[in-house]
Amino acid sequence: MPTTYSQTSDLQEKRKKYVPKGVSNGNLTIAHKAFGATVTDVDNNEWIDFAGAIGTLNVGHSHPKVSEAVKNQVDKFLHPGFNVIMYDSYLNLAEKLCQITPGDFDKQAIFFNSGAEAVENAVKMARRYTKRPAVVSFVRGYHGRTNLTMGMTSKVKPYKFGFGPFAPEIYQAPFPFMYHKPAGMTEDQYVDQVIQDFEDFFIATVAPEMVACIVMEPVQGEGGFVIPPKKFVQAVSRFCKDHGIVFVADEIQTGFGRTGKLFAIEHFDVTPDLITISKSLAAGLPLSGVVGKTEILNVADPGELGGTYAGNPVACAAALAVIDVIEDEKLVVKAEILGQKIEDKLKELSSNHDFVGDIRRLGAMVACEIVEDRFSKKPNKTKTAQIVKYANENGLLLLSAGLKGNVIRFLAPLVITDEELTKGLAILEKAFK
Ligand code: PMP
Repeated sequence: MPTTYSQTSDLQEKRKKYVPKGVSNGNLTIAHKAFGATVTDVDNNEWIDFAGAIGTLNVGHSHPKVSEAVKNQVDKFLHPGFNVIMYDSYLNLAEKLCQITPGDFDKQAIFFNSGAEAVENAVKMARRYTKRPAVVSFVRGYHGRTNLTMGMTSKVKPYKFGFGPFAPEIYQAPFPFMYHKPAGMTEDQYVDQVIQDFEDFFIATVAPEMVACIVMEPVQGEGGFVIPPKKFVQAVSRFCKDHGIVFVADEIQTGFGRTGKLFAIEHFDVTPDLITISKSLAAGLPLSGVVGKTEILNVADPGELGGTYAGNPVACAAALAVIDVIEDEKLVVKAEILGQKIEDKLKELSSNHDFVGDIRRLGAMVACEIVEDRFSKKPNKTKTAQIVKYANENGLLLLSAGLKGNVIRFLAPLVITDEELTKGLAILEKAFK
């Protein structure tokens, strides 16, 4: 039975009364159904989806092949528990991920439920493997909302404030931000400076021989789609190799074709020891994983890793279908084409709007930094919030990001049609006006 308007307001009231306000909602309508890059609410309004459940839907909502795989699995069994009895989808997905992730070495894969859980387990395995305690993440990084990953995350409010104390032995290293380099420096000088700061960090803050792993987002996601220069990523990778530190690429937001490569780290010509994955891995079903060197993953003894729901068969079946869709529909190639179209539109808008500061992208991971003016580059969080609010009240699901809340990010499904894209960009244009 279709839901009526009064049911919408009833549900909004329930949300207020029964769900803590700590869970934010960008949009206050109630979803009824979704397909591709369009969500329809219970009042039959359509929303173009540029948020993709925060980067979860590279293959789009309700992809028929994913839905079919899920339905087939549901008819067989929901969850016998991998620790209790094994099933094929877990094993086939582990094999497939070992084949498609970068690295010409023996690999294994293990599954969990959320991104944060994958990061926690990458740290856990790196600590056991290296027998060292410390963890290094980066300024502006984001790795989750559990205690350990909160500690690894930047942006005190809203992610950390009042939620401590945090786990010890977590350190945040410097990370370059090309748009905000000091005015007097060339790009090369700035990158060399940050590399120097990064190396000095291991003199001033934590000794390298204490560090189990360095966890890096190849493109900082929540931090505002900040793309590091290749030279920096290569310096970090080399530093890890020189000091026996496990290099973990957190590809939870950047993975599965988003950046125009299957994994973003491939843009930088380095090979991480471990990769954490989630979000677009299973098109909306809760699934995450760690893939990487067997010598690291295989070091824990039976019972030391896992979890009740970890590697749920329905989610694994969805993930196998997702990987097929990415390959069959050439979504890695499509990401670059989509990203270019969004960039072109943003460039056009920037000629009329002085508040468009930086436009940056890797594939379809596109962002636009909103500033007071292009000279001062001062963040304009208020205008960013106004643009996002207008979009979310007028048919476009849109997200912000950035340490200073002044970045608009684009995570539209890679299967978005030209018609959906044109419609979404037209709403964006109005929002900018
Ligand atoms: N790492 C990165 C890079 C992320 O973007 C996120 C989620 N935004 C996480 C970890 C945490 O994932 P989850 O919310 O599923 O715990």
